[in-house]
Amino acid sequence: MTLCPGCRYEVTSSSIRKFSSSSTGRDFQLYYCSRCDLMFWEPRIIDPHFYSGNKLGYEEFHCNLRKSLPFNSKPFFDFFPHKNGRLLDVGGGDGLFARKAQEMGFEVTMIDFDEKSVKTARKRGVDKAFTYSLEEFVLTCKARRLRFDIISFFEVLEHQEDLESFINNIKELLVPDGWIVGSTPNRDRICANLTRKLDGQDTPPHHFFWWSKKSLRNFFAAHGFHIDIFPAKIDIDATTANLLDFISGKVVRKIKERIISHNFDQPDAEIGRTRHSILFSMKYARRFFLFPAGLLLKFAYDRSGGFSFYFQGHINDLNLIQDSLSVKGCK
Ligand SMILES: [Zn+2]
Repeated sequence: MTLCPGCRYEVTSSSIRKFSSSSTGRDFQLYYCSRCDLMFWEPRIIDPHFYSGNKLGYEEFHCNLRKSLPFNSKPFFDFFPHKNGRLLDVGGGDGLFARKAQEMGFEVTMIDFDEKSVKTARKRGVDKAFTYSLEEFVLTCKARRLRFDIISFFEVLEHQEDLESFINNIKELLVPDGWIVGSTPNRDRICANLTRKLDGQDTPPHHFFWWSKKSLRNFFAAHGFHIDIFPAKIDIDATTANLLDFISGKVVRKIKERIISHNFDQPDAEIGRTRHSILFSMKYARRFFLFPAGLLLKFAYDRSGGFSFYFQGHINDLNLIQDSLSVKGCK
């Protein structure tokens, strides 16, 4: 018997998949909750060094290689109904979304527990970018009686150890009529199982939750939010990166390892201008040579409901107590 972290239902069926992580040597089991439709992995233990090292594309954050707004946060600028307010970006990474929101007129604060990414965000021009875990930041804000009108968490929900603690911390920081916005991968996208085998992005200990539209709606409803969900349409930059992983992920990783540092996984590996330019040229070459196939893959992802879900929601009732949450939202 396993307790569903989304709705507290006792999942009695056995795990539906097993996964052995080569990076940690740990075994994980996937469970499905028939009550709220969530898929979750056990055990869930975040390793911050996993993020601070140059693994799974985080070298792009640390070495400031990303220049355009990620596709999963683009819908915010199309669909969000307000153009200003105090916005907290949780897990803001290299600050691309935070900077754009700042430019658009929001009063932005960004936090991330990965110091190296926060440094990149500051270099990028995010005025208030801080190295904090969400738990530490809640304590700081409580002491200062600080709350936010909007809290964003793009590609963050799937990384959590404890969903209930995460959403309760978000509530602590949100004004009573506040908004949440975010995104998470669509577990039913095309080629999901193939990419999970190849790149390690969507498996533990990186991702602990696989979300569907239904499980997202149920989880947020159970915690007092009504959300709207839109498909986040992937861009060519992301699909060509995907394709390169399919074709020769290990070779490219070796090349990047040589360019960045002899010790690729060290978080403090600084790179000079020349090495930065070489890495950047590799990205342009990838986009150029894989453009036609990347375009086809984009159409395939879009037709399968989008690579990720973008959601935005309004809090309905802050007074829902924890014990009643699990029952109310699940259908
Ligand atoms: Zn559940």
